Amino acid sequence: MAPNVSSSPGRAGPEPAPLPLLVDGAARPAAATETAPVLEPATGRTVARVPLCGPADVDAAVRAAAAAFPGWRAIPVPDRVQVLFRYKALLEREQDSLAASVSRENGKLLPDARAEVRRGIEVVDFACGMPTLAQGRTVEGIARGMDSHTWRVPVGVVAGICPFNFPAMIPLWMFPIAVAAGNTFVLKPSERTPSTGLRLAELFQEAGLPPGVMNVVHGGRDAVDALLDHPLVRAVSFVGSEGVARHVYARAAASGKRVQAMAGAKNHLLVLPDADLDLTVSAVMGSAFGAAGQRCLAGSVLVPVGGAAEPLLERLASEARATRVGDPFASDSAMGPVIREDSRARVRRYIEAGLAEGAALVVDGREATAGGNGFFIGPTILDRVAADSTLARDEIFGPLLATVRAGSVEEAVALANRSRYGNAASIFTTSGKAAAYFRRNVEAGMIGVNVGVAAPMAFFPFAGWKSSFFGDLHATGEDAVRFYTETRVVMERWA
Ligand code: NAD
Repeated sequence: MAPNVSSSPGRAGPEPAPLPLLVDGAARPAAATETAPVLEPATGRTVARVPLCGPADVDAAVRAAAAAFPGWRAIPVPDRVQVLFRYKALLEREQDSLAASVSRENGKLLPDARAEVRRGIEVVDFACGMPTLAQGRTVEGIARGMDSHTWRVPVGVVAGICPFNFPAMIPLWMFPIAVAAGNTFVLKPSERTPSTGLRLAELFQEAGLPPGVMNVVHGGRDAVDALLDHPLVRAVSFVGSEGVARHVYARAAASGKRVQAMAGAKNHLLVLPDADLDLTVSAVMGSAFGAAGQRCLAGSVLVPVGGAAEPLLERLASEARATRVGDPFASDSAMGPVIREDSRARVRRYIEAGLAEGAALVVDGREATAGGNGFFIGPTILDRVAADSTLARDEIFGPLLATVRAGSVEEAVALANRSRYGNAASIFTTSGKAAAYFRRNVEAGMIGVNVGVAAPMAFFPFAGWKSSFFGDLHATGEDAVRFYTETRVVMERWA
C-alpha cells in the first residue's frame, strides 16, 4: 500500500540571472560563464542559476581573503565577536526567510528548515565565546627561570565546502567559528542549494565584517579542486559524500593543508523488546523519514531484537502509509521530496535490488510519485534484509528503511559494527544494562539512547567515525576551535 501524496502548487517565475559571488565585501558576477540550473525539488522548476566557478574565480576570492587576513587577525578578539553578536541578531531577524530558502532549494519541510536554521544560530552563540575559547595555557617555571605558555593563533585562509542537505546549518558549522578565531573564509555552498549560503554570507557582511573576511564562490568539482590546490588556502572543512570526502582529504593534504572531511553514513537503530513502543515508533519515523531520509544522521537500518520486530513493524507500517508526502510549504505535508530525479531513481533501484536479494516489502513508497514534476518518493520499509546485502551496506540517502533482524543485543551491535561507516547509532530500550553495553561497544561517534537522531549540537564536536570522517579534529565545539587555530608555544626567560 502506498503512502499519501499531495501535489505541489506552482511557483512559476522568469528565468533567473546567475547568482553572484561575494568577493572582497561586494557581490560580483562570476568570471565563469557556464551555469547550472538550481531546481526546486517540490516542483522541478528552475528557481536560480548557479555559476560553475573555476580557478580564476576561486583565485580572486582566495586572494581577497588572504589580503584581509592580517587586518582581521589584528583586531582584538572581544572586538571581533561584536560582529558575531550583530550577526546573531540579523540571523534571528531573517530566520523565516532563511528557512524558506532552505525549503525551496532543498525540499525539506518548513518547520524542519526552521529547526536547521536554529541549530546553525547556536554555532554563532558558541563562536561569540571566542575570547574564552581561544585562551591558551601557562605554566610558571617550566624550567629554571623560564615560563611557558601556549597561544591559539588563526591559521589564515580557510575554505568551507558544503553538501546540499543542510544549506544553512553546515556552512554555519564552519565560518562563524573560523572567523571569530581570526581567520578569513571562502565558502563554496552546494551547487544544488546555493542561495542560502550566499545569503548567510551577505548577512555576515552586513553585520560589519571588513571586506574580504567572508567570501563566496559557487560551482562543483572545478571550484572545489581549485580551492584544494590553492597555495594560500591553509585549511579545508568539507562535508559531503564518502567518495568526495576521500578525494578532498587526500588532495588537500597533498598540498600540506589541514583537513576535516565529514562523509557518508549508514546509521543503525536497535530496538529491544523492552523499548517504549510509542516513543520508539515516533523516533524511528523521524529518524528514517525526516528530511526524506537525507540526513547524514538518518536511521537507515532498523535492527529489531527478538520479539521487538512484529509489533514495531506493524506500527511503523501504519505510520509510514499514513505519511502525507507533498509540498514542503504546506502545513499538512509530513515529508517533502528528495533533492533530484537521480536521487529518486537511486532509491527505486535499491528497493528493486533489495527485493531481488530476497527482502520483503512492508511499505512501498514507489507509488508516491504522482505529485506533479516534483521528486517525490514515499517512505519505504523493507523487512528480512540480509545483513550483507547492498541494501544493508550502502548509503542510500533517501526515505528507505531496511530491517535486519537480530537475536540479541550483542548480535545487533556486531551487525552495526560490520558497517564501514560510523556516523551514528541509536538504541531503544528501558534496560540501563543494554544501553551501557551498546554505548561501550558500538563503533559510531554519535550515540542515541532512546533518541532517533543524535544531533550535532554547537557546543560539542560532531564526532563521526570510520569512513564517516577523515581527519582528526571534528566540526563544532572545542574541536573546531583547535582545527581553526595553530598552537604556538612560547618559552620566556626574563631573569
Ligand atoms: P556531495 O559529495 O555530492 O557534495 C558535497 C560537496 O562536494 C559539494 O559542494 C559539491 O559541489 C562537491 N563535489 C561533488 N562532487 C565532487 C567531486 N567529484 N570533486 C570535488 N568536489 C565535488 O554530497 P551531497 O550529495 O551534496 O551531500 C550528501 C552527502 O553528504 C551524503 O553522503 C551525506 O551522508 C553526507 N553528509 C555528511 C555529513 C556528516 O557530518 N558526516 C553531514 C551532511 C551530509
